[in-house]
Amino acid sequence: MPPWRRTFDLAGRDVLVTGAASGIGRAVALRVARDGARLHLTDLREEPLRAVAAEVRAAGGEVGLVRAADVSDRTAVLALGADLTAAHGPMDVVMNVAGISAWGTVRSLEHHHWRSMVDVNLMGPIHVIEALLPPMVDAGRGGALVNVSSAAGIIAMPWHAAYSASKFGLRGVSEVLRFDLAKHRIRVSLVCPGGVATPLTETVQIAGVDTTTPRFRRLLGRFRSHAVTPEQAAESIVAGVRKGRFWVYTSTDIRLLHLLQRLFPPGYRLAMTVFHRAANAALPEVERARRAEVA
Ligand code: NAD
Repeated sequence: MPPWRRTFDLAGRDVLVTGAASGIGRAVALRVARDGARLHLTDLREEPLRAVAAEVRAAGGEVGLVRAADVSDRTAVLALGADLTAAHGPMDVVMNVAGISAWGTVRSLEHHHWRSMVDVNLMGPIHVIEALLPPMVDAGRGGALVNVSSAAGIIAMPWHAAYSASKFGLRGVSEVLRFDLAKHRIRVSLVCPGGVATPLTETVQIAGVDTTTPRFRRLLGRFRSHAVTPEQAAESIVAGVRKGRFWVYTSTDIRLLHLLQRLFPPGYRLAMTVFHRAANAALPEVERARRAEVA
C-alpha cells in the first residue's frame, strides 16, 4: 500500500494540544487519549487546563506535560518546547488549536483587534512550529502537524477581515509545509471548522456591536443551533488526521462552499454578496458603521 494511503495510528504517539482547556482543544484531547495517545496539554488558562488533564486521566488516558503558556509569547513557547522535548522526546503529533476571535467592520475594528488576531492565531502556531517541528524532523519518525484554521480561512465571512488575516495566514503556512514536510513523512492537516458550539462563540468580540442585546443573543442562538458539538468536531479532526487528509472540515456547509468557490467562482461571489447583505441587515449597528465608512 502506498504510504499516503496508510492510516496514521495515534496509539502510543506523543501528542501536543494547544488550547486544550476548552472547546475543540479539550474535545480533541479527550478523543485522542481514547485512541491510546500520550497527551501533552497547554493553554493560556491554568486552572481549566488542569481540570481537562484530570478529565483525560479519569477517562483512562495518559497525560505527560501540562503547562499554561501564552502561544503569542515566543519565549514561553520555546521554553515549553525545550522542556517537553527534554522530558518526553520529540512529539509525533502537534495540534495547534488555541485561538481567539474578534469581528467588526473596517470602520469599527481597532488596531488591537487586528494585532491580537495575528499575534495569537497566526504567530501562536508559528511559535509552536518553531519550537516543536525541528526535533520532530530530526527524529525522522514522521508524524502529523494539525493546524486549526476556520471557514474564515477559506471564504469571505462578514466582518471577518482581522480574523481572516490570521486564519488565511495559517492556511498559507500549512499549504507550504504540507509539501515541505512530506519528505520527512510529516503529514499536515488544515482544519476549517464552520460553527462549533464552544465558549468561543460566547466570547467573540464584534467591534461596534453590543453582543448582550436580546437581538444578538437570538442570532447567536440560531448560530449555535446549526453548530456541531466540540465532540463532533473532534471526531472529524481525528478521522482527517488518521487518513492523512490536508483539508479537514467539521461540517458539510463549509465543505460545499469551498467546492463552490473552486468549481464555480461566480456562484461563490453571488452567495457571499447575499450573505454579507443579510448579515449587515440583521445587525443594524454594524450596518450603520458600514454606512459611516462610505459616508
Ligand atoms: P474556545 O474558546 O473554547 O477554546 C480556545 C482555547 O484557546 C481556550 O481554552 C483559550 O484559553 C485558549 N487560548 C486563547 N488564547 C490563547 C493564547 N494566547 N495562548 C494559549 N491559549 C490560548 O474556542 P474553540 O471554539 O474551541 O476554538 C478552537 C479553535 O477553533 C480556534 O483556533 C478557533 O479560531 C477555531 N475555530 C472555532 C470555531 C467555532 O465555531 N467555535 C469556528 C472556526 C474556527
